[in-house]
Amino acid sequence: VAVPVPADPNPAGHGPLDVLGVPGQVNLDYAATAPCARAAADAVAELLPWYASVHRGAGALSRRCTLAYERARQQVGDFLGVRPDDHVVFTRNTTDALNLLARVLPPGGKVVTFASEHHANLLPWPVDTVRLPVPGSPGAAVRALDAALRELRRGTDGSAPILVAVTGASNVTGECWPIADLARAAHRHGARIVLDAAQLAPHAEVDISALAVDYVAVSGHKLYAPFGIGVLAGRADWLDAAPPYLAGGGATRTVGPATNDVDWADGPGRHEAGTPNLLGAVALAAVCEALTGADRPALYAREQALLAHLRTGLAATPDVVELRTFDADAPRVGIVSFVVAGRDSAQVAAELAQRWQIGLRDGLFCAHPLARRLLTEAGTRSGRPDLPPTALRASIGLGSTTRQVDRLLAALAALG
Ligand code: PMP
Repeated sequence: VAVPVPADPNPAGHGPLDVLGVPGQVNLDYAATAPCARAAADAVAELLPWYASVHRGAGALSRRCTLAYERARQQVGDFLGVRPDDHVVFTRNTTDALNLLARVLPPGGKVVTFASEHHANLLPWPVDTVRLPVPGSPGAAVRALDAALRELRRGTDGSAPILVAVTGASNVTGECWPIADLARAAHRHGARIVLDAAQLAPHAEVDISALAVDYVAVSGHKLYAPFGIGVLAGRADWLDAAPPYLAGGGATRTVGPATNDVDWADGPGRHEAGTPNLLGAVALAAVCEALTGADRPALYAREQALLAHLRTGLAATPDVVELRTFDADAPRVGIVSFVVAGRDSAQVAAELAQRWQIGLRDGLFCAHPLARRLLTEAGTRSGRPDLPPTALRASIGLGSTTRQVDRLLAALAALG
């Protein structure tokens, strides 16, 4: 029997950062894809009548679209705190951004990452990538990176390019990684660092300059903007030196008659061949502007209070065991993964959807090495031999309410 969702009196009230949604559906899956913010929807609606080619036409519509696209690049760059000589390349999403960076890694370049990464930050890298084991604490992560980089540099002249690839916040546990410390460790050994900010940017300020990272990757659809737009921002030199990620129109200065007679453009356009995703870029920029203009500390404090409420409720629910890498009180964003001992996670997710209209995620969350390890650890920690092999994940954001969280807690307590 379905339990009706009571009307929500729109308690978020964030103005341009209010999110669109469907009454009667409880979305607790922001970490997969966040709902669209009003700012993004309005920006798209405003531009639609002007729909015309970007970078190609001379007409007024086309000129406005070109300006809008380049202004969006500027706004997104400002939001991410880029340095004057950084590039901001529009991509499809974070996966695409990290694959682009893997492609521009200089020849002979090495990569170091952690086994706790999302597959998007595990799989694009070369096969000889050093994959460090999941650390037990943020401090252990920094020490492990330091030792690995020292080892990689041993016996070399220290000039080979090395890239450290880490997440800002785990998509499984929501736990935040010590990015500024990892960046310092990387730079101490002459390495660069890319921050996978897919999960961090929707919940906390991500500033390339302040964090002193070399590259940042984000996805629009996790930042309250539409699907199909993402960003790789950071150091220009590798991007300008490598062959284009996508070859085609817009990525060249001139093309001659011979098959190898191409003068590739530099700047971000080098890697953006083809007609770009104008609406996605403009929508993402609108959200960035709205977030910049909002009282972000207040937004994040509200979210942290809701997260604490969720975690306290889960801890008090019989048979529920949370997954975590670090201590229970380590800083985290609005994501919690858990299991219900003795219950199949896919069946629990289906019951939550069908009876309670709650949407959340079950599985191993595209982070198989981490999720499997945390499931094993959770079994040991809880002393429960009957934990299922996959987990559930609840994630919150701008439109989430106490009422929604309470509904999840009630639903879990009432599992048949
Ligand atoms: N990194 C992290 C930490 C993520 O959570 C995700 C998405 N789940 C990605 C990368 C990949 O993002 P996208 O699917 O938008 O490319």
